[in-house]
Amino acid sequence: MPSKTENLTKKEILALKKKLLERKEAIMRKMRQYYQESQEVEANIAQDTVDRAETSYTKEFLLLLTDAEREQLDLINQALRRIEAGEYGHCQICGQPISKKRLEIMPWAPLCIECQQKKEKEEQEEKEIEREREIL
Ligand SMILES: [Zn+2]
Repeated sequence: MPSKTENLTKKEILALKKKLLERKEAIMRKMRQYYQESQEVEANIAQDTVDRAETSYTKEFLLLLTDAEREQLDLINQALRRIEAGEYGHCQICGQPISKKRLEIMPWAPLCIECQQKKEKEEQEEKEIEREREIL
């Protein structure tokens, strides 16, 4: 047996793959819905100048959601590729197995919890630096 997938059985990987595909389908559905809604927002902008501020806020919100969904979709596609390559379930930074518990909640997780937290902390620090720059 290759040591690459020692923490997950074939059956477990198949169950997670099913979850990934279901999630992917749900996002695709939502994306189509968001797209239709944003088209409607677009149509309303010309209609009423009083509501313009509110409308553009709604539009930004929709775009933001779409970005988050797109990001997740990307992670799902990467996870599906890792399943095909037999590399699924291992952290993309340190190579350690990602815990089953974590994969059950987030089957698309590319990183183990330690690396994820470290990454989030770094991103948080970057945001703080940006915010300080804005103040100056
Ligand atoms: Zn890691």
